[in-house]
Amino acid sequence: MPEKSHTVVVGAGVVGLAAAAALVRRGRAVTLVDPAEPGSGCSYGNAGCFSLASIVPVGMPGMWRKAPGWLLDPEGPLAIPPRYAPRVAPWVFKLLRNSSIHRVRRIAAELHSLLSPALDHWRPLADWAGVPELIRRNGWAVVYESAAAFEADRLGWRLRAEHGARIEFLEGAAIRDLEPALAPAYTHMAYLPEQGQCLNPLRLSQALEATLRRQGARFVKAPAMDFIFRDGRVSAVVTGAGPVDADHVVIAAGAFSKPLARRLGDDIPLETERGYHAMVKTGQPPLGRPVMSAEGKFFATPMEEGLRFAGSVELGGLKLPPNFRRADVLLKKGRAMLPGLDTGETTQWMGFRPSLPDSKPAIGPSRRAGNAYYAFGHGHVGLTAAAVTGEIVADLIHGLRPAISPVPFRPDRF
Ligand SMILES: Cc1cc2nc3c(=O)[nH]c(=O)nc-3n(C[C@H](O)[C@H](O)[C@H](O)COP(=O)(O)OP(=O)(O)OC[C@H]3O[C@@H](n4cnc5c(N)ncnc54)[C@H](O)[C@@H]3O)c2cc1C
Repeated sequence: MPEKSHTVVVGAGVVGLAAAAALVRRGRAVTLVDPAEPGSGCSYGNAGCFSLASIVPVGMPGMWRKAPGWLLDPEGPLAIPPRYAPRVAPWVFKLLRNSSIHRVRRIAAELHSLLSPALDHWRPLADWAGVPELIRRNGWAVVYESAAAFEADRLGWRLRAEHGARIEFLEGAAIRDLEPALAPAYTHMAYLPEQGQCLNPLRLSQALEATLRRQGARFVKAPAMDFIFRDGRVSAVVTGAGPVDADHVVIAAGAFSKPLARRLGDDIPLETERGYHAMVKTGQPPLGRPVMSAEGKFFATPMEEGLRFAGSVELGGLKLPPNFRRADVLLKKGRAMLPGLDTGETTQWMGFRPSLPDSKPAIGPSRRAGNAYYAFGHGHVGLTAAAVTGEIVADLIHGLRPAISPVPFRPDRF
């Protein structure tokens, strides 16, 4: 392999940027191809949690009983626009097939292997990018409005505890001792002191971009559209700005990766769980750490620029316009969570979570081209898993056996 072998990374979200950084730090020449500003997609508007303990998949036992109630509630956490329902039905079916207790236990163990070392990889990467201050390890918490709601989540907490997560269960006044601004409606809290958060996900991506540029990485502001194949390998990525020669390719285009993977020989059941946020510009966010409402299924995260209410799952595909009513609902529920909050100046956002029906990403080689690798489909945990994923991809490209086994994330598992 020539010393400055050239890798083209398709997609400059946090996953593509982290993969590019891992390669550049190992002496590789890298070109990132993206029609948008780096980090401006899903990686911009998320809840900012480094969720080492988010090993519980989206599809859980008994979910099919709860989902109709969520769907019928116009302010519920799950929505499927009727126009998109027939398209997304096979994906939902696959998700339900992955929600047996047997499958859930296995997925939790596999996600644990990917997520538990996340901060060990993020810290050196943030140092390299010159922004160590963006990573804070002050824990996060989940709050409940009733004992019954808390009991309904027992399985998830048991799984996390079995995999070594430190969890403190608080009730009543102890909740307000930890987070005094929370409404008195909350009766139960699970507090996970070892979890982390990013104080500004966009600035993190921008710092990675700036450092990559300084280290010689090239950015092509155009979409990747196709590939040129030679002898069972990709020899160039065809972009809107012309072909870019490649010794290796990484597909990290988030929710938009499916047609690219198809050209590379893989039919991967990638969908998008669209999510929303409402960002309240407030000088001093009234929370010491991210707090999630279990009933509302949203996070309230204190960030550099204010307080972000982020969540919601809308199975609406890539083309329908956003329904910002869902961000309004997040703000309404956020106000109820934090009654004293001044919500004067707020902004709204919608983004595309890249989601696979078993809640695990696709990391590994393509079927058709031995030098093309996937790094997409991280769903609810892409910020957390980006740095680890980057290291795995860099190991694979170098022909090394990754420290974290990529076998559970094989793209050909579907
Ligand atoms: C509301 C919400 C809250 C979330 N909270 C958290 C959280 O707290 N913690 C966590 O870990 N994760 C969270 N996530 C998930 C996380 O944000 C995503 O998993 C992650 O951002 C995915 O990163 P990515 O780089 O794969 O995708 P993206 O950030 O979407 O990047 C993909 C890039 O590919 C580019 N692209 C698209 N098509 C092409 C093409 N043809 N050619 C070239 N480039 C292309 C896009 O322009 C984009 O820049 C949340 C998501 C949402 C929506």
